[in-house]
Order: sequence, then C-alpha cells, then structure tokens
Amino acid sequence: MPATHHAPVLILGSGPAGLTAAIYAARAALQPMLVAGLQPGGQMTITTDVENYPGFAATIQGPWLMEQMQKQAEHVGTRFVQDQIVTADLSRRPFACTGDSGDVYTGDALIVATGASARWLGIPGEEALRGFGVSACATCDGFFFRGKKVAVVGGGNTAVEESLFLTNHATQVTLIHRRDSLRAEKIMQTRLFANPKVSVVWDTVVEEVLGSGTPAALASLKLRNLKNGASSTLAVDGLFVAIGHTPNTGLFKDQLAMDREGYIVARPGSTETNIPGVFAAGDVQDRVFRQAVTAAGTGCMSAIEAGHFLARAEAVARAAQ
Ligand code: FAD
Ligand code: NAP
Repeated sequence: MPATHHAPVLILGSGPAGLTAAIYAARAALQPMLVAGLQPGGQMTITTDVENYPGFAATIQGPWLMEQMQKQAEHVGTRFVQDQIVTADLSRRPFACTGDSGDVYTGDALIVATGASARWLGIPGEEALRGFGVSACATCDGFFFRGKKVAVVGGGNTAVEESLFLTNHATQVTLIHRRDSLRAEKIMQTRLFANPKVSVVWDTVVEEVLGSGTPAALASLKLRNLKNGASSTLAVDGLFVAIGHTPNTGLFKDQLAMDREGYIVARPGSTETNIPGVFAAGDVQDRVFRQAVTAAGTGCMSAIEAGHFLARAEAVARAAQ
C-alpha cells in the first residue's frame, strides 16, 4: 500500500548539492527528508582521485567523500529515503513527488538537486554495444579492459581523467576529440600528454561503433576527420564516452523554467526558481562550473533560502489568522 511521507523541506538528490542542503536544513531544525535516487552519492561516486575539494591536503577518493557527506547529513538528523522520483506536482503546496515505489513525498519547500547524467553520442551501434565494450564510466568498467586497447571520446576534464585512469588497465588509450584543443584543465592536459600509453586523435568524430562475434562485442570504430573528411577505422576493445552530462530535469518540464539545454533557471545570486518555495541546487542549475564544491555551495544556499521562505510563509499564515 503506497504511503505518503511529509517533511517541511523535501530534498531530491544525494550528490554534494543535496547532501549539503540536508546538512544545513537539518541544523536549522527544518527536519529535511532526502530522496536519494538511483545513484546514491551522485557523480562523485564514479570517480577515483579527488584533488580539488577543499579541506584535504592529500588526494581523497570520490566515493569516500560522498560517504562522509552522507554520514554527516545523517548525524545531524536528515531522514533518508531510497527511492527514485518519477512524477512531481509543483502546482500547489505542499509540493508532491511520487517515487518509483508508489510512495508520495511531500514538502512545504522543495530543493531539487537531481544533478546530471552522462550524455551519449547517439551513433549507430552505441546503444546495442553498451555493456559489451561501450561505457560511460571508466572507474566502473575500466578493469574489464586489462591488457586491451580502448578509446575515449571527449575533450573535457572527464575525458582526460578517464583516459589517465584507463592507462592503469589498458595497453593503449586513444583519446578522440572533435577539435584541435582540449578544454580540460592545463594540469590534466600536461599529465595526459606525458603518458606514453596515450595518443590523441584530433579533429575527429566517431561515426559508428562496430561489433563482432556472438553475442556481439565492440571490435572497431569508424572515424571521420572533420578537417579533411577522411574516414578511417580504429580497432579497439573498449569505448568510453565522456562528452559531458545532461541535467536530470525531465521531471519538471513545463513546471520549472529551464534554458534550452534543460538546466533549471535560478534567480541570479540565488537558488530560487520560478515557483516560490522550489529551489534548485548543484549541476541541475549550473551549466558553467559543475564542480562538487560549487554544488555543495548552492546546496547550502538552497537550504538557507528554503528556511527563509518557510519562515515568511508561516508569518503570513499567522497574520491571516
Ligand atoms: P550529482 O552528483 O549528479 O547527484 C545527483 C543526485 O540526484 C544523485 O544522487 C541521483 O541519484 C539523484 N537523482 C537524480 N534523479 C533523481 C530522481 N528522479 N529522484 C531522486 N533522486 C534523483 N567535481 C569536482 O569538484 N572534482 C572532481 O574531481 C570531479 N570529478 C568528477 C569526475 C567525474 C567522472 C564526473 C562525471 C564528475 C566529476 N566532478 C568533479 C563533477 C561533480 O561530480 C559534480 O559537479 C557534482 O557531483 C554535482 O553534484 P550534484 O549534487 O549537483 O549532482
Ligand atoms: P565538458 O567539460 O562539458 O566537456 C565535454 C567534452 O565533450 C567537450 O570537450 C566537448 O567538445 C565534447 N563533446 C560534447 N558533445 C560531443 C559530441 N556529441 N561528440 C563529440 N564530442 C563532444 O564535460 P566533462 O568533461 O564531463 O566535465 C563536466 C564538468 O565536471 C566540468 O565542469 C568539469 O570541470 C567537471 N569535472 C571536473 C573534474 C576535476 O576537477 N578533476 C573531473 C571531471 C569533471 P568541445 O570541447 O568541442 O565542446
């Protein structure tokens, strides 16, 4: 029998944004309830070394950092729920979100911190060979390519980080990028270019992913050079797609104001959305920075703003009595 669970502050997402919002909301006695989603801990759980989260002089591990954040949020009194929200009704307060389990979660204020998911190339063969050589997570699947040849597509921090990580397992890593320069941080590029296992194919796109055998496994990639139009084939055992992420905001379409790419539009300098009482924190509303520390920062802002909103709403209700 589906149940309804209510909290003054309902938080969707358990990445750095949602967990930081939970820590601040709990410490402000707002009794937050957090729905963790399918990826408890968020994107940082699929990476290894983290060197830029302040407070740690030594390199730390992404999953460990998220475990610590979750423990901190629990310790101060956050109620955690393991469910994935499938529909949301933001037309009235309390806002109501229905989980995959059938349970309904309501909140007088809502913090949307559902983050972002890996983007795919959308080329022939990619979907059919996912799990059979095609992946979007080197940390998760790199081990399966011990002693093999792999390719990575992309030119950002993720692509470079995935390439470097894969050199721990694969014999050869080919980074394929559509332009002639990377957008990854310089320190990462220096490490990449210095690694003898890595070669970079510039100005090139993957047009098709080709499999062989039964069941079919990835065998090669059909490439095209964008400068001279030349086609070629690259034999690889693994393909790691690292071309960025799409914000997880489909649930809120036609309810929350979004930009063309689906990022929630928050009022500048704030996490307020177009619906009073609904706040957006982390990668869902950040098309520029998309870092754990900025997600945590906006998570903090959202909890403080949710607290102010509830206090104002209570004062209005009291005055009307
Ligand atoms: P996310 O971490 O994306 O978390 C989203 C949460 O929402 C998840 O818990 C998910 O389960 C939940 N969710 C989604 N949909 C629903 C739903 N329908 N219902 C309920 N819950 C839902 N940043 C750094 O600062 N340093 C790094 O070293 C670094 N390394 C990275 C390495 C990789 C491979 C990647 C992909 C990213 C890296 N980043 C790094 C970026 C960083 O991970 C993100 O900026 C950060 O995780 C964003 O946090 P978030 O809380 O907004 O969302
Ligand atoms: P990103 O910075 O958006 O980079 C995506 C890359 O993929 C770009 O180089 C882009 O090419 C390429 N690309 C996009 N669509 C493509 C397509 N259809 N075909 C081929 N190539 C395509 O994404 P990201 O690397 O995942 O990083 C996301 C955020 O997380 C960033 O803010 C990043 O700093 C952060 N992050 C940080 C760390 C760290 O601090 N160590 C690690 C990982 C991620 P163009 O360059 O031509 O646009």
